[in-house]
Amino acid sequence: MNAEIIAVGSELLLGQIVNTNARFLSQQLAELGVNVYFHTVVGDNPDRLKQALTNAEARADIILLTGGLGPTKDDLTKETIAKHLNTKLVMNPFALHSIEQFFARTRRIMTDNNKKQALVLENCHVLQNDNGMAPGMLYKQNEKIYILLPGPPKEMEPMFMTYGRQTLLKQLDTNEEIISRVLRFFGIGEAALETEIEDLIDSQTNPTIAPLASDGEVTLRLTAKHPDKNEAISLIDDVEKKIRSRVGQFFYGYDTTSLMDEAFSSLKTKGLTIACAESLTGGKFQEQFTAIPGAGDLLKGGIVCYSNEVKMDLLDINPLTIEQVGAVSEECARDLAINVANKLNSNIGISFTGVAGPSESEGKPVGTVYIGIYLKGNEPIVEKVELAGSREAIRTRAVKFGCHFLKQ
Ligand code: ATP
Ligand code: MG
Repeated sequence: MNAEIIAVGSELLLGQIVNTNARFLSQQLAELGVNVYFHTVVGDNPDRLKQALTNAEARADIILLTGGLGPTKDDLTKETIAKHLNTKLVMNPFALHSIEQFFARTRRIMTDNNKKQALVLENCHVLQNDNGMAPGMLYKQNEKIYILLPGPPKEMEPMFMTYGRQTLLKQLDTNEEIISRVLRFFGIGEAALETEIEDLIDSQTNPTIAPLASDGEVTLRLTAKHPDKNEAISLIDDVEKKIRSRVGQFFYGYDTTSLMDEAFSSLKTKGLTIACAESLTGGKFQEQFTAIPGAGDLLKGGIVCYSNEVKMDLLDINPLTIEQVGAVSEECARDLAINVANKLNSNIGISFTGVAGPSESEGKPVGTVYIGIYLKGNEPIVEKVELAGSREAIRTRAVKFGCHFLKQ
């Protein structure tokens, strides 16, 4: 089975938005074992959409469309398909009911064109929209499968994951469950990780192992197929065990978790509060920390001590330290971590000081970063890391290393 994804929307052609829907659906279909051969983008124009459909029918078994299901005049995906396939649009009572409820919940007045959103292709499988109004559809005609999904990724992605995926699997006539698990690693490069498990990657077909590197992290996606869901899970468990026996020290979590999530829950479990002294990261650590609900129980606060004056005046760094070894130094990172913990009355102090670039500083090369961690009652620890990449990449990775050290 092969597929084509047609993204409908003039904004896409004008370059106002990026076609993230095609990327998302391609990744999902790859996991289901469906080959995607073409991505098409077409504007909100019925004639050109019809052309795109005709092209897709000549070369794909499954045609996925996103966008143009909304209430406005330029939303014409289903109308165009209905005409093209010579089928009717019918009012779907469940979809209409949920649209009415949506308006009642948000206390807005429902206009007539909103009802139009509850029209679906006759005899289609309706895909419920839990995050918006327009329902999706799976429709079969002449051995072709058409899947219509809304444009906004916030609606499209959960609709596909919750309803579309299963409905499609049934159509594919496979009695197999497909289960995926993502293993996340930090502190090891993609090439090094792949070398460690190369034989497993090459010999494994069920589950498959797919590595992906981004932002200084490496993930492995394990995907298993089996008619019995529990068997599929245990196939994944076995391979995960093998992988972790080799590179387990770099493993930090599953699926969509982040290093910050892990650091956060480690503090939470231990019941520890934290305060931060951020120089090169400029508040990035705290920005990410406070994005997690419940941050108020753990984070006392912090100081963006970008200049040496602030390091000396607010965080009592000894001027001699700055003079003799500089602000980017083990000594400075240590004292920042200790002093911020004491001044802000927290259990832990963490500090970031380093050279983000683009040029060197204090004679230290770009990418030199010291991270201090002080847990009251213990010896302070300072980790030196040497990071590569742009200014932004260095600052982002410095925060990741901070989380990495913190969760240990
Ligand atoms: P709505 O009810 O919001 O009108 P719709 O199903 O009619 O939904 P569109 O009008 O085509 O969808 O797109 C709505 C919005 O969804 C766009 O403005 C854009 O922000 C987002 N969007 C649409 N298509 C894509 C795409 N291919 N990739 C990423 N975002 C998209
Ligand atoms: Mg629209």
